[in-house]
Amino acid sequence: MTIRDIDININKETKSMLKEVEKFSMGVMRPAGIELDRLSNPADVVKKESVLWDVFKGFREMDLHSLQIPKRLGGTADDLDPMAAIRITEQLGYADAGLTISLGVSSLPFNMAAMFPMPEMQELAKDYCADKSGKMIGCWAITEPDHGTDWSLGGSKPKCGPSVTAILKGDEYIVNGEKSEWVSNGTIATHAVLHVGLYPERGMEGQGLAIIPLDLPGISRGKPLDKMGQRPLNQGAIIFQDARIPKKFMVVPNPDFLKATAGQGLANVNGGMSIVFAGLAKAAYDEAYRYTRKRIQGGMPIFEHKNIKLKLMQMFTQVEAARANARRMALYNLKNPMNPSVVHAVAAKCFSTETATQVASDAMQIFGGYGLAKEYPIEKIFRDARASMIEDGVNEVLAIKATEFM
Ligand SMILES: Cc1cc2nc3c(=O)[nH]c(=O)nc-3n(C[C@H](O)[C@H](O)[C@H](O)COP(=O)(O)OP(=O)(O)OC[C@H]3O[C@@H](n4cnc5c(N)ncnc54)[C@H](O)[C@@H]3O)c2cc1C
Repeated sequence: MTIRDIDININKETKSMLKEVEKFSMGVMRPAGIELDRLSNPADVVKKESVLWDVFKGFREMDLHSLQIPKRLGGTADDLDPMAAIRITEQLGYADAGLTISLGVSSLPFNMAAMFPMPEMQELAKDYCADKSGKMIGCWAITEPDHGTDWSLGGSKPKCGPSVTAILKGDEYIVNGEKSEWVSNGTIATHAVLHVGLYPERGMEGQGLAIIPLDLPGISRGKPLDKMGQRPLNQGAIIFQDARIPKKFMVVPNPDFLKATAGQGLANVNGGMSIVFAGLAKAAYDEAYRYTRKRIQGGMPIFEHKNIKLKLMQMFTQVEAARANARRMALYNLKNPMNPSVVHAVAAKCFSTETATQVASDAMQIFGGYGLAKEYPIEKIFRDARASMIEDGVNEVLAIKATEFM
């Protein structure tokens, strides 16, 4: 037996929905993630015949892409039990964290578009809900080659401000600069949530936010990034050279508004990360537990050795603490979208990602030499988990930032 789910806040519909999600995530995502992870060239992850597209298609066919968009635009948010959204995310993270991030980020520009009243934004969200083939793919373009942590801690220092700038000329913004190769879905995205500098003298506090299609003239891409963990997650740079962006796409031209709502963004991103990596932590535990039952040393399954029992119990406790904490935080924040608790969200992101990394490392120890072998999934889980302590903000930096919301 692996970990029993003792959460009683779950209704019948959610239970049957979760069964379907489990089937898709373990039947399609898990094997696809393993196959994509083994490709030595990250360009092959996104080629036409890649299994990546089966994952995108399956996700859309199950309508999992529109969970945060209201019914009037074609989504399913109104009827969805918030606990269902949480449990689905956790299950996807359990199957493959990198693919889950790719799928999650692919929804971001469209989820945000649904929140703005402008007709073109509402239409964009509608088109996304209707897309069952996976041709509309979103990304979040914030990090730049010279500005990573600066986005969190740069404040009003002009030196720390965005290098990607937008200058208003008539009905268009002229955009120049580069978003870094860390942008998730960077080389495959059709749309982006784009952070730009509007008032360079105000540093990071002078930024605006656009939701744009990425097929506009003057926009090009880098090549897919080669990295250690979450290899199925495509990443790459987006380059702007005198790109002309219609004014109507600058959904937040007022930096003060962006600053005032920054907490909601932080809570949303960190909340999602905490659930995904609580799921991955459980995957690491489950793999280790199963292995201890079948690996014989000293004439008995290694489960019978006291040191292994103690280690398993310690891992179990950490995993359950991460899952309970992430679920509680996410439930509160989903029910309070206008005033979420940023501190709880950041604490949960840091705790889940650190737990996933620690538990995956402990699992490797339990596997002994086989923990390092490609034959078993644990070395991949470890690499995927390790990346998460840097992803969407280095944990230490997020923790410092969160104190502004105490
Ligand atoms: C898997 C993954 C997915 C990602 N997805 C996206 C994405 O979708 N979109 C996107 O735009 N970006 C994405 N990123 C980028 C990510 O957000 C950045 O890597 C992260 O914000 C850190 O920036 P950096 O890598 O430039 O590190 P740096 O900012 O260069 O930091 C390096 C080190 O210096 C420390 N440091 C830097 N400045 C300070 C300071 N002022 N005070 C104290 N310590 C400091 C940091 O703690 C860190 O240890 C992703 C990253 C990963 C790993």
